[in-house]
Amino acid sequence: MTSGIDEAAAELQGSLFGEVSPAIDTPGAALARSYPVRITVVGAGDVGVACAYNILTRDICSELVLVDVLKDKLKGQVMDLQHGGAFYSTRIRAAESYEDTAHSAVCIITAGVRQRPGESRLELMDRNAALFKGIIPPLVQYSPNTILLVVSNPVDLLTHLAWQMSGLPRERVIGSGTYLDSSRFRTLLAQRLGIDTASVQAMVLGEHGDSSFVYRSGITVGGVPLRTCFERMTDAASASTAFYDLVKGVHQQVVAAAYEVIKLKGYTNWAIGSAVGSIVTTIVHDRRKVLPITTHAGSLRGLESADVFLSLPCVLGRNGVVEVLQILPFMESDEKEDLQSSIEALQSTAKKAS
Ligand code: NAD
Repeated sequence: MTSGIDEAAAELQGSLFGEVSPAIDTPGAALARSYPVRITVVGAGDVGVACAYNILTRDICSELVLVDVLKDKLKGQVMDLQHGGAFYSTRIRAAESYEDTAHSAVCIITAGVRQRPGESRLELMDRNAALFKGIIPPLVQYSPNTILLVVSNPVDLLTHLAWQMSGLPRERVIGSGTYLDSSRFRTLLAQRLGIDTASVQAMVLGEHGDSSFVYRSGITVGGVPLRTCFERMTDAASASTAFYDLVKGVHQQVVAAAYEVIKLKGYTNWAIGSAVGSIVTTIVHDRRKVLPITTHAGSLRGLESADVFLSLPCVLGRNGVVEVLQILPFMESDEKEDLQSSIEALQSTAKKAS
C-alpha cells in the first residue's frame, strides 16, 4: 500500500518538477550555515528600507547590512532602524564598503532609479544597468556563495544582467518578479469575493510589467478551480466569457496598480517589502515553497532555447531555485501564447538596450 503511494508521489514529482533534490546539505547551504546568517540590502531608499523592515520583523537573520552611495541617508536609515532594537534581535549595520557584506546568504538589490509617473518599468533599463556594474561584481567577490535577489526595475532584464555579471549558477540569481503582481491579483479577487486572500490561489507569470499574464487554469478559490465554478453556473459559452472577463478585469487592475500608487504617493514600497521578506524567509528556512519569481526560462521543458529571465513558478530553497514547476503541459493554448508574448516583449527591450 505504502509503496504504491511512494511510487505515485515519485511519478508526480518527476512530472511536475523533474527531480527535486532532497532538503539536505549541499556545498552552498553548508557553507552559508557556517556563518551567522547575514542578509545584505543594496539601496537604502524607499524599497530597500521596506525590505529591511519586513526582514527584521521576521527574525530570520543574525545580521542585516545596508549599502547605499548616499552616506548620510544610509546612516539615517540605519540609525532609525537600530532604534527599534528592543523589538527585534537582528544586528543592523551600515556598510562602509562591500567588504562589510562578506558571506551574505542573500544579497537583495534595490538600488537604482524608479519610475516617474506614467513611465514603464522597461524604460528604466539603461540607467539601472549602468549602476549594476558597480554593484554586482563586488557583492559576489565578497559573497561567492550568495543568492542574488534583484528587485530594481526592470527586474527581469536586470536579473538577467546580474546573472551574466556575477558568474553565479543560474539557480542562485533570482528576481522578485511577479510574486508582487500575484499578491495584488489574489488580494483584488478576494476583495471582490468577500473572502480572505489566503483562500485564493493564483499566479501572475511572465514579465513583471505590462506583458505579464495570469495562469488562468491554476486559479482556485478554497481549492475549487475558478473556471469550473463558472462552468457549473451557466452554459459553456457564457461561462467562458464571464470567466475571461473577470480574470482580465482584475489583471488590468494589477497592471495599473503600480502606476496608480506612484501617481498617488510617488513610489511603491510596502507590498514589495512584504514579497521580498517572504522570498528571503523561504530561502533562509529552505522552505521549498512554489513561488512565481524571476528565473531563467530555459529551466522550463519546451523553452530550453529561450535565453530570457521572467517569472515562472519556482521551488525555492536555501540554494536558490531548486526546480521549476513544469507548467507548460497544463497550460491552455492562449496561456502559452501569453507566455510567448511576454518572452518577446522582454527580448525586444533587451535587444534595444544592448
Ligand atoms: P529610491 O530612489 O527611494 O532608492 C534608491 C536608492 O538606491 C537610493 O537611496 C540611492 O542612493 C541608491 N543607489 C543608487 N545607486 C546606488 C549604487 N550604485 N549603490 C548603492 N546604492 C545606490 O528608489 P526606490 O523607490 O527605493 O526604488 C528602487 C528600485 O526598486 C527602483 O528601480 C524601482 O523601480 C524598484 N521597484 C521594484 C519593485 C518590484 O516589484 N520589483 C517594486 C517597487 C520598486
